[in-house]
Amino acid sequence: MSQHYDIVIIGSGAGGGTMAQALAGSPARVLLLERGDFVPREPQNWDPHEVWMKLRYRAREYWLDERGESFLPYTHYCVGGNTKFWGSVLYRLRQEDFQSLEHADGLSPAWPIDYDTLAPYYDRAEALYHVHGETGHDPTEPPRRPYPHAPIPHAAAMQQIVDGLRGLGLHPSPLPLGLRHVGEPGGCILCATCNSFPCQLHAKSDAEVCAVRAAAEASNVTLWTNACARRLVTDPTGRRVAAVEVDRGGEAVRVTADLFVVSCGAVNSPVLLMRSASDRHPNGLANSSGLVGRRYMAHLATMMEGFHPFRPNTTVFQKTVAINDFYLRGPDTPYPLGQIQSQGRTHGVMAQTVVPWIPLWAYDAWVARGVDWLAMSEDLPREDNRVVLDRDDRIHLLYRPNNVRAHRMLVERMRRILRQLGFWLVVTHSHKSRNTTHQCGTLAFGTDPRTSVLDPYCRAHDVENLFVVDASFFPSSAAVNPALTIAAQALRVADHIRATHLKVMETSV
Ligand SMILES: Cc1cc2nc3c(=O)[nH]c(=O)nc-3n(C[C@H](O)[C@H](O)[C@H](O)COP(=O)(O)OP(=O)(O)OC[C@H]3O[C@@H](n4cnc5c(N)ncnc54)[C@H](O)[C@@H]3O)c2cc1C
Ligand code: SF4
Repeated sequence: MSQHYDIVIIGSGAGGGTMAQALAGSPARVLLLERGDFVPREPQNWDPHEVWMKLRYRAREYWLDERGESFLPYTHYCVGGNTKFWGSVLYRLRQEDFQSLEHADGLSPAWPIDYDTLAPYYDRAEALYHVHGETGHDPTEPPRRPYPHAPIPHAAAMQQIVDGLRGLGLHPSPLPLGLRHVGEPGGCILCATCNSFPCQLHAKSDAEVCAVRAAAEASNVTLWTNACARRLVTDPTGRRVAAVEVDRGGEAVRVTADLFVVSCGAVNSPVLLMRSASDRHPNGLANSSGLVGRRYMAHLATMMEGFHPFRPNTTVFQKTVAINDFYLRGPDTPYPLGQIQSQGRTHGVMAQTVVPWIPLWAYDAWVARGVDWLAMSEDLPREDNRVVLDRDDRIHLLYRPNNVRAHRMLVERMRRILRQLGFWLVVTHSHKSRNTTHQCGTLAFGTDPRTSVLDPYCRAHDVENLFVVDASFFPSSAAVNPALTIAAQALRVADHIRATHLKVMETSV
């Protein structure tokens, strides 16, 4: 069976979902392919046991790490992709992140666009994803308009911590958060099961709720769920993609189109290009640079919990504070260390997944007296950190974290701060080399086809009708959460597609 559309978008997460929303109402007939299904709205959405022990919504797929050991990646195949489970911390990159920046472990490369180019699209992405925040607190804040929505107030215990941080000479700022209709009927209730859980109320600003649903209601957009793209097929010249081969609920379907937008995430997009190898592209589609799948980055991330035995933590919604004082340089080093943000409350079940033999009651008692944080540092693009496919078509994630020294300094600095705030003990945990939540960088964009896969509008240098708008395009990982930048760039690429490829159609309507 074969069908034709003007544009096929593959993947409905932060990049693909936003792209579909931006093309809704255009004259192009758009098909959005998503390998997963809608996440059902059900009581289990907010059940830590279902989400963390039974892994109810996790992708049922194993990857292999750099030691050849298989692991279940922390990723989700569903409408909205990983945004359904995100913490909705929606940051702009700092102005400096677009420039090359010297880190303890080497150079973080410049982006082919600057902050000012993306700023108007950040404005639009923040409006689309209902971002709450407040300017004037964050020492690393880029020039910007006021946020579309007021900041989420700190809970009383967090306000005390914020005051304590200020007392230490730091500059805590409100975390920018994408939440819908906070406190209004049917809107966000600021609960304790947000980060890593799907929102039962559809009040989280995820790509399904903010982008895909509206797009799919437009007459020009068709959504296929349970439709996995297997391979892209080029025309005889090899310069254009002619069709995508799709497994649609077990049925093989071929879809032809004038333009293809791949957005499967920074592991699955290079995998799709590798699976699309042909005589014209023997090393994988769009891979004349040899960089497809290389330069994988994922941030260095350490969960931290400050514990005080006699100070029960009554906070329900805890994820409201950021500390960016060490983003560009550390207190004792000229190099950037990274960012610290408060996290959603840890549930006993979540902690038990780390050391299963400790009884749940002990964890519950522990986390009831803990305050949770995330320390996050930039990792640098290294060509041998990469995604590869083996002969059996299995995905290998060959990743060794770098810039580790800077990250350790950040964690140690935060440990000291928490002790200064009176916490008796600080415990830490990290996914290390199996870190996949902030995956990026595997199809970097740039101006030189020898050193990048995509051009500054995310079009493949080698294939004229192929764009990629997921996190793969990042040439560096910065140290803030990536998704607002993915959405902003998707909006920018959509404008470009409308102004170039769809111009004739737009003017004749
Ligand atoms: C628990 C968690 C918390 C997070 N919190 C934050 C946060 O607070 N802030 C932030 O900025 N980021 C956060 N992230 C990261 C953020 O979710 C990702 O950066 C973002 O979703 C990446 O967007 P993407 O478009 O690259 O990929 P995704 O959003 O993962 O979308 C890829 C989509 O492609 C689909 N797909 C894959 N392969 C195929 C195929 N072959 N055919 C068809 N469809 C396919 C997938 O099912 C998926 O829907 C978090 C992630 C997780 C897991
Ligand atoms: S109600 Fe608000 S805090 Fe709770 S999951 Fe939904 S969006 Fe997150």
